[in-house]
Amino acid sequence: MSAVRNLSGALFNLVFPDDCRICEQPLENVSRIPVCPSCLSLPQPLQAESFCRACRTPFVDSYPLDEYDLCTVCRERQVNFDATYSFGSYEGPLRNLIHLFKYAKVETLALPLTRFLIRAMPLDQRFDLVIAMPMHWRKRWERGFNQAALLAQPLAKHYGLKLATNLRRKRYTKSQAGLTEAQRQQNLKNSFCVRRAGQIAGKRVLLVDDVLTTGATLRAAASALKSAGAAHVSALTLARVDRRTFGGRFAFEERRPGSTAFVAGGVN
Ligand SMILES: [Zn+2]
Ligand SMILES: [Zn+2]
Repeated sequence: MSAVRNLSGALFNLVFPDDCRICEQPLENVSRIPVCPSCLSLPQPLQAESFCRACRTPFVDSYPLDEYDLCTVCRERQVNFDATYSFGSYEGPLRNLIHLFKYAKVETLALPLTRFLIRAMPLDQRFDLVIAMPMHWRKRWERGFNQAALLAQPLAKHYGLKLATNLRRKRYTKSQAGLTEAQRQQNLKNSFCVRRAGQIAGKRVLLVDDVLTTGATLRAAASALKSAGAAHVSALTLARVDRRTFGGRFAFEERRPGSTAFVAGGVN
């Protein structure tokens, strides 16, 4: 009898889908995505009281912005990318989905996650190329895929844009811990290179990544692209780390000469 029950159980699992990997409720529809529609619809767009007009960094109030709505970094022209766009904050349901995608390697989440990127896409901007934030081959080999590439492919297809692979990660980025400010910048500065720079020259580039953390990696990538002649570099990410909840500003806002506040340990 128990053998029959086991057999029917096995058959049941074959025919009917599993539980949602997030809320653990049984999935009602057969799908390659192991997350229920409700959990997929939970992430909410970023809410911020103020945004820098140039880089789109959100702030808790308008205090860090000048009369032109620019943040300190943009005002002092320390920023080398043109803008950042993110769907939501890196917390709660969106963070859960990104973790499932990136660390539990549920690659079928790429399409539903790309829909959040599409919702965050600026309507008043035009781009020539989409580039996935590259991963060093060793890291890619360890993880098995580059999550940014899985997001960039359907995004480029949706907008009929060219997906370029000219940006490369040159070397395995060392840990940022214990380095001086100058060493940190140098460490990341040489971590990207552009192949066939002629294809980038004069182009408006959209860099796609899953999460924007401190912006340090974005600055290094943007620096390589601008050196290759890119006319514009913006970043589009699913989520950004929201430091407002910790009462602080964004890391690159804190990154002033002589400052030790900028900690970019887990560079992303
Ligand atoms: Zn669910
Ligand atoms: Zn700014």
